[in-house]
Amino acid sequence: MEYGHIPPSGEELVKEIERLKKERNAVILVHNYQFEEVQAIGDFVGDSLELSRKAASLDADVIVFCGVHFMAETAAILAPDKTVLLPVAAADCPMARMATAQEIRRIKEEHPGSVVVTYVNSTAETKAEADYCCTSANAAKIVQKIGEDKEIVFAPDQHLGEWVTQARRGNVTLWPGYCPVHVRLTVDDIEKARERHPDALVMVHPECRLDVCQEADIVASTGGMVRRVKELPAGTRLIIGTELGMISRLRRERPDLEYIPASNDLVCTDMKMTRLVNVWEALRDMKHRITVPPETAARARLSIERMLEVS
Ligand code: SF4
Repeated sequence: MEYGHIPPSGEELVKEIERLKKERNAVILVHNYQFEEVQAIGDFVGDSLELSRKAASLDADVIVFCGVHFMAETAAILAPDKTVLLPVAAADCPMARMATAQEIRRIKEEHPGSVVVTYVNSTAETKAEADYCCTSANAAKIVQKIGEDKEIVFAPDQHLGEWVTQARRGNVTLWPGYCPVHVRLTVDDIEKARERHPDALVMVHPECRLDVCQEADIVASTGGMVRRVKELPAGTRLIIGTELGMISRLRRERPDLEYIPASNDLVCTDMKMTRLVNVWEALRDMKHRITVPPETAARARLSIERMLEVS
């Protein structure tokens, strides 16, 4: 069907995406925080770690990454022979821009001999300066692997870094970055939610502040949350402290549980930029291609591969 400049809508739009996907030999990867309509057309829906692994193993010519810039960049690093498309060029993670490669080089000079761990929510240039990359799913494992005689520099998320290093005896330097969405959740929000739903379990993401994590019954990455709900008895009520899109994902996995947002304020506007029409345009026009210069990609790949070996 010829649409000219008027995009299709509804079922027709989904059919067109499917048709273009076949024509391009493309695969659609979707982060758990995306709108439900986007999650519904994903070939794989998951967290950063799950999607990174997928990107590396896919048999496709094109990867459409429905998420934010650093995720598509990580896919481009792990799958250099594939074309990686980000449907909305402006979709970016503010936290990933809070530590530059230049700043990481400076802190390495100030802390000689330290081991630099960068959260996957960082730019390719920053990953290229790191010894290890990590995600919220495997950060604790990576930190444990590093001997306590070594100093760790953890960037850019101070809250994830604080959560996974709290029991560590060795020196830790936390970069002062944060997720502007998760940082909004407060202990007061959790206490109020518990008062309203005293029988519910509280499950939060480790990008939340340390005092919020300490108040929770479960602290887990989004992939970890999916695994945890699969184990819970039918009818369990959960107060969810992460980006609201996660509730759609959890509901699909376990529709027999009840999900209560810890706060209605936890919306990542960057994650919510992508709509179905953007996915269609991306496949139609092969935009926006995300590439990483080969020398940066080679160095960043080392820190990502070290992470994948550990987890
Ligand atoms: S939820 Fe936070 S960490 Fe995730 S993409 Fe949005 S701003 Fe970045």
